[in-house]
Amino acid sequence: MKRKRIRLGVLVLTTALAVNLGVVADASTATPFGTSRWRQPSVTYVINGSSYDRYIYNVAIRAWNATGTFRFVPGSNSHHQLNLTASDATTGPYHLLAGITYTSGPRNGYYTQAKVLLLAKNMTDYHYSTSNEIHVAEHELGHAMGLQHSTARNSVMLANNRYNGISGSDSYAVWRRYRTPVGRHS
Ligand SMILES: [Zn+2]
Repeated sequence: MKRKRIRLGVLVLTTALAVNLGVVADASTATPFGTSRWRQPSVTYVINGSSYDRYIYNVAIRAWNATGTFRFVPGSNSHHQLNLTASDATTGPYHLLAGITYTSGPRNGYYTQAKVLLLAKNMTDYHYSTSNEIHVAEHELGHAMGLQHSTARNSVMLANNRYNGISGSDSYAVWRRYRTPVGRHS
C-alpha cells in the first residue's frame, strides 16, 4: 500500500496568500504522474459515508468526468474497484491530514483496488469550506488515477491543496498517464 497525503497547516496559508496577491501561476508546469495506473481510464466506485460525504465525492467525480480524460463509474458494494470513504479520526496516521489515498497492487503495473479517506473532522477543525473539501476530494481522486504532487500554484495536485480545482495541466496529465505504458512516469 502506498500512501499519498495532503497535510494541513501553515503551508496552506502560504498558498492562500499567493492566490490573493494575484501571483501568476506557472501554467507551463506539468502535473506529474507515477509509474502505475488502472488498466483502462475508467474505474468503478462506491461511496460509503454520510449524505454530505456523498455530495462532496459526487461533485468531485462530476468535475473529473467532465474533463473527458477518465470515467468514474458507479459500482456496487459487491463489485467495485475504488472505495470512497470518510473518517472522523484525527490522531495517529491521520494527524494533520485532510485526505489520504491507498492503492493496492500494482499487479504488472496496474492498480487492483484503491481507497480514499477524507478526514472530515480534521477539515472541520481547520475550517475547510465545502468548496475546500471538494478540492481535497478532487486531489485524492487525482492520486487514485495515478497523479502525483505538482508544484504549479494552480494545480489541484498541489501538496496542500484546498483552493484549486482541476487545471488544464491536471486533466492533460491524466490523458497522458493513460497513453503512457505502466512502468514509465512523466
Ligand atoms: Zn496528495
